[in-house]
Amino acid sequence: MDYERLKALLDSSSRVVITTHRSPDGDAIGSSLALYHILQQNGLNVNVIIPDADPEFLHWMKGHDLITVFETQKESAEALIEKAEVIFCLDYNRLDRIADMGAAVEKASAKTVLIDHHIDPSPDFDFRLSKTTASSTAELIFEFVDALGWKSLINKDVAECLYTGIMTDTGSFKFSSTSAYTHRIAAHLIEVGLVPDQVHNAIFDTNSFDRLKLVGYALSKKFEFDATHGVSIIGLSLSEKNRFKYQKGDTEGLVNYGLSVKGAQMAVFLSEELHFTKFSFRSKGEIDVNKIARSFFNGGGHKNAAGGRLDMSLPQSIKYLKDVIHHKISL
Ligand code: 5GP
Ligand code: MN
Repeated sequence: MDYERLKALLDSSSRVVITTHRSPDGDAIGSSLALYHILQQNGLNVNVIIPDADPEFLHWMKGHDLITVFETQKESAEALIEKAEVIFCLDYNRLDRIADMGAAVEKASAKTVLIDHHIDPSPDFDFRLSKTTASSTAELIFEFVDALGWKSLINKDVAECLYTGIMTDTGSFKFSSTSAYTHRIAAHLIEVGLVPDQVHNAIFDTNSFDRLKLVGYALSKKFEFDATHGVSIIGLSLSEKNRFKYQKGDTEGLVNYGLSVKGAQMAVFLSEELHFTKFSFRSKGEIDVNKIARSFFNGGGHKNAAGGRLDMSLPQSIKYLKDVIHHKISL
């Protein structure tokens, strides 16, 4: 990343758009809103645009009510993208990860800035801060803000956004991507006023009763463990999700139960939607689910956490998944 050239570009620009990936998670929203506040403090006119809505447990973050959702506000989102001079692309590595919004960004005249931690970023960005070793994009936003000399602008609101991104992408500081630098950032965020348990409670302790019942149902009725291959599979159909009044985010983290079984090396969660099924993969050690998701499930992600989607029903998807496990990969 050529920080000097980027700073010059930002100094001479006034309109900035921040984008993040489809089905935005804590890191996507936390990174976007943190950067939003920093750039706004620098006098820029900033808009955050997300492809589709994010789960309700992220809505408390400061600035969230100003986010534009491409899916439901297409015209105003397209106008903002067209007029932008700089477009930030956060927490995704290629434009096909932002669905229909990708076409609008591709034809925009703005310079694009990638800040991301996924494997194999596309070369089609004007500026890139891409590190696969970073725990989260929020960690890279901190690094970016620090490199531009704006660390003093990280106030409590910004700290809450960054902490949300780091905490959710590291499984509360427990995944192997958690480094000394990750903890140093967390320490700094606490020093500027962040209260960790407040953020933790806002994210994790706001479950609806229906959500917990859905999780209970999935674990007791829809959980298979294949001890021979060390694979856990949990799948939910659309009608099962509807039975428990499914809301976006309700199945977040369910896949991790699969990986917590003794002997599990890989866990897969399948979530049926109207015309496709979404896959979440998690693995331990050397099992590369990014490769598996790319090769067989139209997806990608990281070595130990990836996702994908297939235009199949849940039963077809489970059959296909088992075929891949039994015949296409070695576990
Ligand atoms: P999750 O299972 O939490 O939805 O996603 C895990 C990781 O895989 C995240 O880093 C996410 O960005 C990535 N991922 C999820 N779904 C997809 C997908 O459809 N395509 C690609 N390329 N990556 C995905
Ligand atoms: Mn991330």
